Amino acid sequence: MLKNNFDEVEARIQAACARSGRKREEITLIAVSKTKPVEMLQEAYDFGTRIFGENKVQEIVDKYEVLPKDISWHMIGHLQRNKVKYIVDKVKLIHSVDSLRLAEAIEKEAAKRDIIVDILIEVNAAKEDTKFGVMPEEAEDLVSEIALLPHIRIMGLMTIAPFVENPEENRIYFQRLRKLAVDIDEKKSDNVNMSILSMGMTNDYEVAIEEGATMVRVGTGLFGARNYT
Ligand SMILES: *Cc1c(COP(=O)(O)O)cnc(C)c1O
Repeated sequence: MLKNNFDEVEARIQAACARSGRKREEITLIAVSKTKPVEMLQEAYDFGTRIFGENKVQEIVDKYEVLPKDISWHMIGHLQRNKVKYIVDKVKLIHSVDSLRLAEAIEKEAAKRDIIVDILIEVNAAKEDTKFGVMPEEAEDLVSEIALLPHIRIMGLMTIAPFVENPEENRIYFQRLRKLAVDIDEKKSDNVNMSILSMGMTNDYEVAIEEGATMVRVGTGLFGARNYT
């Protein structure tokens, strides 16, 4: 059952790549396992899944403890400064950095452990007032400030597009994020790399791939609907 979902998403990723003349290897699928029990993650692990996305610090810590150590954990949710210390050495990539203050908290914890932490800048591409993320016009300044922190490496941008019925409506936001990454990349700052574009979820990952996504974060399409009660 779970394997069928993964096969289906894989087929759709490949079709989106074919439509847009991209190579499958350019896209990393992040299996968003938030709220799902470790047994389900273990099942996905057993058929080869190694990259999981979570949005809560406590949940990453708990799952990290019990699941195999060759898993790459991606922090995709809003991160509070006082919780950085619990995950900074456990995650492969933090997708959700949207302020200098948060970046400074990451810098401090990374320096203590003498590690470099890879991050993405979260951009509120559709300027929704319910969303986290830096406004598109402020992203470049934020990148320049964070680029000065020696234990942080900026790897690209991330966005969460609006919840819409028709994924075509989000195409402009994916285009906007890509253009922003190109603009920032042209500045060629030290310590700034714009190779990752994390965009696209269950509802719109195919459009995101057509518009240049290099990471798609798919939860429901792989693990089924979430139950928050
Ligand atoms: C939950 C979540 C996803 C996955 O959402 P689905 O619609 O279930 O695919 C992707 N990105 C972020 C940041 C999330 O919080």
